[in-house]
Amino acid sequence: MTVIAENWLDTLVDEVRPHLAAGSVSTYLPELSRARADELAVAVDLGGGNILTAGNSKARFTVQSVVKVFTLLLALHHRGEDHVFARVGRDQGIGSYNSLETFIRGSGVPVNPFVNAGALVVVDMLPGDGPQHRVADLLDFVRLLTGNAAVTVNEAVARSELALSDRNRALGYFLRSHRLITGDVEELLWAYCQMCAIEVDVVDLAHAGRVLADGVDVHLGGRLLQAWHVRLVRRLMLFGGMYEASGRYATEVGIPAKCGVSGAMMGVVPRCAGVGIYGPALDESANSIGGLRLMRLLAGALEIE
Ligand code: GLU
Repeated sequence: MTVIAENWLDTLVDEVRPHLAAGSVSTYLPELSRARADELAVAVDLGGGNILTAGNSKARFTVQSVVKVFTLLLALHHRGEDHVFARVGRDQGIGSYNSLETFIRGSGVPVNPFVNAGALVVVDMLPGDGPQHRVADLLDFVRLLTGNAAVTVNEAVARSELALSDRNRALGYFLRSHRLITGDVEELLWAYCQMCAIEVDVVDLAHAGRVLADGVDVHLGGRLLQAWHVRLVRRLMLFGGMYEASGRYATEVGIPAKCGVSGAMMGVVPRCAGVGIYGPALDESANSIGGLRLMRLLAGALEIE
């Protein structure tokens, strides 16, 4: 790895900041629309307590679609690979992340666990009696992954999302009509909305990314994440983590990562680092402009092949 100067990350953030003006924050939830488009923060966790930050690293934000990485890991842990991938594909996305197209074409199951249809099927697989139990189990898992026991759900964002869930509700009932969801759709939606509304900062995401960076089994509380499952999830992140721009991201950047409409982004640099980014100015594919540019610069600095 290259030698890292102390102000290394600050330099990258300064280089990226002028580009934020080209984007706009998500407006589909009132809470997200209040984000500042000029906000940009990054944390890089190199392991062993060595964490670098730049920008407003204290800013808190909801994970949104980044949670799909955590729900998939938990589903693989509880249900195993065969069960999970009988119900959700491992293909590149088609159409937009919340469209029906993501499973009515092709194999008859949602294309991957990172489009909303796939994520709803994955959340439906998680064990537990009712939404509160499922959310509590996931929250416990996320607290261990982030190393932050104070991580919790932003209730206002969760309720707002539930009130504006027409598209996800439609997906949920459509999936149930195809028997890909077995439980109560309204309960599933409430669990999913709360999971998307888990609030973190960039250090939390960088820590979680670092935990997923090594090619070894991960023990978290009583849970065992098999090395193979973690590697599988990293590979899915690489080709499906950036909505429709995933293929381009994989070839241009090469760091497995997942973004969310809040401007959250978590990257996993295998055997090296976890990256957490918050950059709410989004491009037309709903990807964080600052996040994509920072990841590209990080890939160069960390000499990603
Ligand atoms: N909660 C959002 C939804 O399901 C997540 C969207 C995203 O971050 O991609 O619509």
